[in-house]
Amino acid sequence: MIQVEQLAKRFGHVEALKGVSVNVPRGQVSALIGPNGSGKTTLMKCLLGLVRPDSGLVRLEGLPMDGDPLRRLWMGYMPQVPHYPDNLSVGEVLDLVASVRLAARLRCPHAPHWPQDEPETLDGIFPMGELLGRRLRGLSGGTLQRVGAELAWRSGAPLLVLDEPTAGLDPVASSHLKDRLLEDRARGRTVLISSHVLSDLQELAEHLIFLLDGRVHYEGSLAGLLEQTGEPRLERAVARIMRQEAA
Ligand code: ADP
Ligand code: MG
Repeated sequence: MIQVEQLAKRFGHVEALKGVSVNVPRGQVSALIGPNGSGKTTLMKCLLGLVRPDSGLVRLEGLPMDGDPLRRLWMGYMPQVPHYPDNLSVGEVLDLVASVRLAARLRCPHAPHWPQDEPETLDGIFPMGELLGRRLRGLSGGTLQRVGAELAWRSGAPLLVLDEPTAGLDPVASSHLKDRLLEDRARGRTVLISSHVLSDLQELAEHLIFLLDGRVHYEGSLAGLLEQTGEPRLERAVARIMRQEAA
């Protein structure tokens, strides 16, 4: 669904991405892993058009996306650190984002919608009702994450880009979100997800992108990486690779 070619991004003297070429295959859950600072968030933001790469190309369904804000209609985004105007209430933010999306859809009527039949919400697991009148300023980190998740799912976009979605959630919320992702996966949704909790990803992901220091260290099936390292668990496989790198 997405092809990334030779993406490079530098912040001052930090080279966050050093020529990254990867694919996000349609209808699969792809896990983006790598240690802190390896470039995961920067890569996701380049896909979304929130960070402009210095060089390289992002293609959506084969078409270059340079500078086209309407690409966001294909992607629902849950940021690692949400920045919404904190004087607004939850209801106002949900309405604001919905109206921006609606306006964009009117400009781009051929943009796909997922699924075709019903509006998407996480209301079954993260009810928004009692939060609607609360200002974002007063919300806890975990509650803000729930709002971020709800926004990503409400986008109705065929691709979900989730940056550490379970990081601020309590174990119950996190397990609900995982179940929901498994359902989405079963229905063939395309998802790109980063997480530090590699055991979660082993359950969810088919495709794996492993970044190390701004470069792709491995891209392929999760099963392939386990086979390559001879480890049954993703955590162990990654630890083994990191030890080899450090040696
Ligand atoms: P990850 O998500 O894998 O932890 P990031 O993509 O956030 O990694 O960061 C990759 C590198 O780029 C890090 O060294 C980080 O400090 C740097 N970086 C990311 N965003 C910025 C920014 N806006 N300004 C300066 N440096 C940045
Ligand atoms: Mg990050």
